[in-house]
Amino acid sequence: MAGRIPQHFIDELIARTDIVEVIGSRVPLKRAGREFKACCPFHDEKTPSFWVSPDKQFYHCFGCGAHGTALGFLMEYDHASFVEAVEDLAARAGLEVPREGGAAAPQQPHDELYVALERAALFFRQSLSGEARARDYLAKRGLTAEIIQRFGIGYAPARWDALLDRYGGTDDERQVLLRAGLVIERQPDTARTQGPGFYDRFRDRVMFPIRDTRGRTIGFGGRVMDGSEPKYLNSPETELFHKGRELYGLFEARQATRSLQRLMVVEGYMDVVSLHQAGVTYAVATLGTATTPDHLQRIFRLVGEVVFCFDGDRAGRAAAWRALENAVGEVKQGRQVRFLFLPEGHDPDTLVQEEGAAAFEARLATALPLSDYLIRELSGRTDVGSVDGRARLVELARPLVNRIPSDVYRELLVTQLAEVIRMPAGRLAELLASGGPSPGPARTESQSARVQRVAAPAFAGRGNLVRQAISLLVHFPTAGAGIPLSEVLERVDRPGIPLLVELLAQLREDPVPNTGALLERWRSRPEYAPLAKLAVGECLVPDEAAAAAEICSALERLVAEHALARLEVLEEKARTEPLTAEEKAELQGLLRTKAQADRPTLAK
Ligand SMILES: [Zn+2]
Repeated sequence: MAGRIPQHFIDELIARTDIVEVIGSRVPLKRAGREFKACCPFHDEKTPSFWVSPDKQFYHCFGCGAHGTALGFLMEYDHASFVEAVEDLAARAGLEVPREGGAAAPQQPHDELYVALERAALFFRQSLSGEARARDYLAKRGLTAEIIQRFGIGYAPARWDALLDRYGGTDDERQVLLRAGLVIERQPDTARTQGPGFYDRFRDRVMFPIRDTRGRTIGFGGRVMDGSEPKYLNSPETELFHKGRELYGLFEARQATRSLQRLMVVEGYMDVVSLHQAGVTYAVATLGTATTPDHLQRIFRLVGEVVFCFDGDRAGRAAAWRALENAVGEVKQGRQVRFLFLPEGHDPDTLVQEEGAAAFEARLATALPLSDYLIRELSGRTDVGSVDGRARLVELARPLVNRIPSDVYRELLVTQLAEVIRMPAGRLAELLASGGPSPGPARTESQSARVQRVAAPAFAGRGNLVRQAISLLVHFPTAGAGIPLSEVLERVDRPGIPLLVELLAQLREDPVPNTGALLERWRSRPEYAPLAKLAVGECLVPDEAAAAAEICSALERLVAEHALARLEVLEEKARTEPLTAEEKAELQGLLRTKAQADRPTLAK
């Protein structure tokens, strides 16, 4: 295994890199004031809305929302992995990439993985022509030879070593097959009976190659032809294949239509293939996962409209709601998200074959906009006829609404919701906001707990200080170097405080020169996306000094408010019982803090 690339090297690399040069070598940039602009390479446009900031070492498209650092750009634009992007930048800067754990990293180019996967795809296609059972199965499912060819569908023979025999002759070759996710290494306990080694992952399955946007095979989905389990088997996560990002059929959809307007997300491979065959060539599917925010971001880079299409049964409705929860962080004006529910007992595959593309597409007119679906679903869970029920509806809506980036879209949704609750929209907006804004879009299920916490109406009306301070640090990381950290701040009980404290500590101990460098430190953490979103946001503070002053003032206010609250608690307690020595010490400290906060300069 290659060792990890040390963080200090990434820091140095970003410090030595000029994002304008990196992007400029691929996209023609024009100077515009202190920044540079271009027509966005990630979406179709005629007037430039893609901006590159040399100060921040950060790019951002106002059209499609694409944003990131120089490394992020290479990953997105060149479809490079993180390591490849680092190696590319290092080569430009004349640096050698060091690895943690001593020995220099062995070169593991992805080329041999692509070759192995392409060979496997060919092997599966060839195997299909030799297997009447599989051909019959596909014919019975209504697929034509033309569509089977267009999607490169094949068959994995019912043997433990078909692929291994063909392409795994040497140790090196077997290692490549393993890294490509095509074979599985035997566990030691079975080694005694079967001998050490590997076996084919996919056996006796119809094989659907999964392609990246350039059309290269990066993984497979295999489907059984009988009732055995699991019905679908996907490639594991590999260097090339990340199922939380990939969409089956996206390459084929882009091949079919030069400038796509809309994508439809369905649940299975067969749905995608059937829809394409019928002429609905904008269908794609997630790969055995719920639709993730990553998926949505990819989709909205290409098109302005997405329709989720689900079966009308309970599983379908549950999947639709999960998709909604993951989509709310990505909706905004100019992006359309709708939900199409099929009649119970139907899936897109059978339905489009039954009624044809025209009738199927006519159903799109009945698809529910995200806002309607959200309100309908939540109203169904409460009794909107009663005051209690309407209050409960506000509570249910709050975590979702607060994750919608605030713009016209959110306002419209709040207006719509206000009608259902029979309350003035302005008052409802206040109520929804009183939980304090979420520090960023929830990215994983584990964060929904955090969103819930954020939504608790603990600090009505003044929940912004933490976010402001974090945002200023993201825009002016150098300002963080001189800001003292108080212990009281760590005890402040507000969403985002742990992140703020960690940022401050990090920037003091180990300063970074710009936004891009700061973000690279957080790349592998869940906080990366919310931080990058803050970098995209407007910053009204002109320079580092002003930012430092603003941050200090925000921290002082946070500490003062916390001190005040604690002070009340301790003084209250002191009236009825004696304080412990510890509490007394805290009280004294708090009184000092309060005295400082009461200085006239800070009175606000
Ligand atoms: Zn764009």
